[in-house]
Amino acid sequence: MTYKELVAVYEKLESTTKRLEKTYYVAQLLKKSTDKEVPVLMLLLQGIIFPAWEEKKIGVAARLVLKAINVATGIDTKKIEKEWKDTGDLGKVAENLVARKKQVTLFSRELSIEKVYNNLKQLADMTGQGTVDKKVKLIAELLTSAKPNEAKYIIRTVLEDLRVGAGEGVLRDAIVSAYFPAIYGVSDYCINCNKIVPATDKCIECANKLDGKFSASYIEKFENYIESYNANIPKDKTNVIKKIKLLKIKTTDELKHEVLNNYDVIICEDEKQAREAYNFLVASLQEAIDISNDFADAALLAKNKGLSGLSNIKLEALSPIKVMLYQKAADILDAFEQVSRPAALEFKYDGFRLQLHRNGDKIKLFTRRLEDVTEQFPDVVKVVKDNIRSKNYILDSEVIGYDTKTKRFLPFQHISQRIRRKYDIKELTEKVPVIINLFDAVLVDERNLIKLPFAERRAIIKKITNEVSYKIQLAEQLITADNKEAEEFYKKALELGNEGVMAKNLEAPYKPGSRVGYGVKIKPTMENLDLVIVAAEWGEGKRSRWLSSFTVACRDDDTGELLELGKVSTGLKEKADEGVSFEEMTKLLEPLFEQDESSDKTSKSVKEVRVKPKIVIEIGYEEIQKSPTYTSGYALRFPRVLRLRTDKPVDEISSLSQVEDLFYGQK
Ligand code: AMP
Repeated sequence: MTYKELVAVYEKLESTTKRLEKTYYVAQLLKKSTDKEVPVLMLLLQGIIFPAWEEKKIGVAARLVLKAINVATGIDTKKIEKEWKDTGDLGKVAENLVARKKQVTLFSRELSIEKVYNNLKQLADMTGQGTVDKKVKLIAELLTSAKPNEAKYIIRTVLEDLRVGAGEGVLRDAIVSAYFPAIYGVSDYCINCNKIVPATDKCIECANKLDGKFSASYIEKFENYIESYNANIPKDKTNVIKKIKLLKIKTTDELKHEVLNNYDVIICEDEKQAREAYNFLVASLQEAIDISNDFADAALLAKNKGLSGLSNIKLEALSPIKVMLYQKAADILDAFEQVSRPAALEFKYDGFRLQLHRNGDKIKLFTRRLEDVTEQFPDVVKVVKDNIRSKNYILDSEVIGYDTKTKRFLPFQHISQRIRRKYDIKELTEKVPVIINLFDAVLVDERNLIKLPFAERRAIIKKITNEVSYKIQLAEQLITADNKEAEEFYKKALELGNEGVMAKNLEAPYKPGSRVGYGVKIKPTMENLDLVIVAAEWGEGKRSRWLSSFTVACRDDDTGELLELGKVSTGLKEKADEGVSFEEMTKLLEPLFEQDESSDKTSKSVKEVRVKPKIVIEIGYEEIQKSPTYTSGYALRFPRVLRLRTDKPVDEISSLSQVEDLFYGQK
């Protein structure tokens, strides 16, 4: 398929906000695509190159795109930059400049969707030094062959900013519409262009008023038409209708049966029935997507095997399925609001997710990203083999490390080495032992549990598990509708070194791959710290006139001594009107330089200067870690300057015990 055909659909998608119309355009494209093209289309239509769960990114910065436009068009980078500033959209810039260039070149190759996809895919696979030029080349190669409007969408895809709005919902509906029978009430028929179109007042193709050929009042008269139509199906290949069925559906089973008969159109008795029938088709497809965890797989099954193919998708142990994800809740009250009362509260263990699969004697373990890590965890394999009384299952768990001496849970960093380790695995299992916390069940004894309420799934885990202290257990759980009880459980979870708590809806199904809000997570957000600057470093390059990195300290509550917590170099601005600037900070600190060997501020050989502790700044960060590098014994992860605290005297800055409390509170 040419990229041009896809671009035509992008343009149509961009021209409407109506979901039915979007679905129609995508469905038309799917109808004419081959098995090989479907997977590529599924991604490009969403403006992505990797399925969401792959967590892989193209990772190309705007600067690199500028360079690629420059290489492809020969137009000066400065000019490109100016256009970018004027339009604010590099896609548009590429479109304009390629158009200008095309006026002077005569020949360009037709781009295929595969070519675009392959070049973009290679961008993400390239890492490390010396790859910039290769990346520029890959993008420039596409731009050289692209027509102006193609260039626009290529660049938007590169920048992961397609903006045409074919989300997963539209894709799913389009697959239904492309590969399943059209259903009256959702679809209509335009005599003028002989097409099944969305049921709106006008035909989407020729703008003719639709006379409701599938409408209920017409059905009676239509029966004869259907009969003669089916007897003389037009040979013309462009004709989308092959076989029409007038259906009086009573049950979904009946519908299922009829759909299997390969009709192209199904006309229901009334609109309500039609809706029901349509929703049934959509739900069947969605379920297949959830289980196969791949849009392309589900689309191909629908295309080649129809509804019967979809219903044959089976959950099978040993082949990973997408894990269910959880939304955030601000606090306990918000959590109850989202999952309703009573809810199951569980410890949110700070480990990593492990999907446990067994079929017969074979056991496999997969991470959240569906990587097979069975080899790395022989201890887990043994524990589940010995203590789960079933030979066929898919269970969901969080595995945590613990300190063999103190028996306290260890933060994730300590066990992350076990996920990647390929050698000395046995030694590591002894050094860093783990506990398996089972919290969900997807399949047990060949029974698909996805639709069962959470409470029942949990009961099944309990039935088949032999809990062994410090080896395998069900996630600690409290079922409650009471705020106070829930708050206490949350407090206890934090005290025991957990990240927070989960709150789960007791009635909810297991939804693979989706963040539907059947469960939410609650964890403390980190409080900002007010710290004093005790040293600073001169910058480099264009920042060499300024101090650009600052060592910050908190106060020892007992002695008043200042204890360092790390260096911060982000958060300050180049320009004064954007916030605290490097220049302003340098001016504030220069008079405070200590009169020692580093006082020669013009000497380039002295990079770091100690300063009198006067300037207090508010610091945000992701996490507090233990660290031998700094005198406080702690370090901040991803610290950033938020603002100057000129209102705060040094003896009121954050204390070491506050830092300690936050450190223990975060886990
Ligand atoms: P987050 O990674 O912050 O989105 O939080 C969700 C993650 O918490 C899940 O993917 C699990 O890895 C982890 N987790 C820890 N304890 C539980 C639990 N009891 N139930 C569900 N997930 C849990």
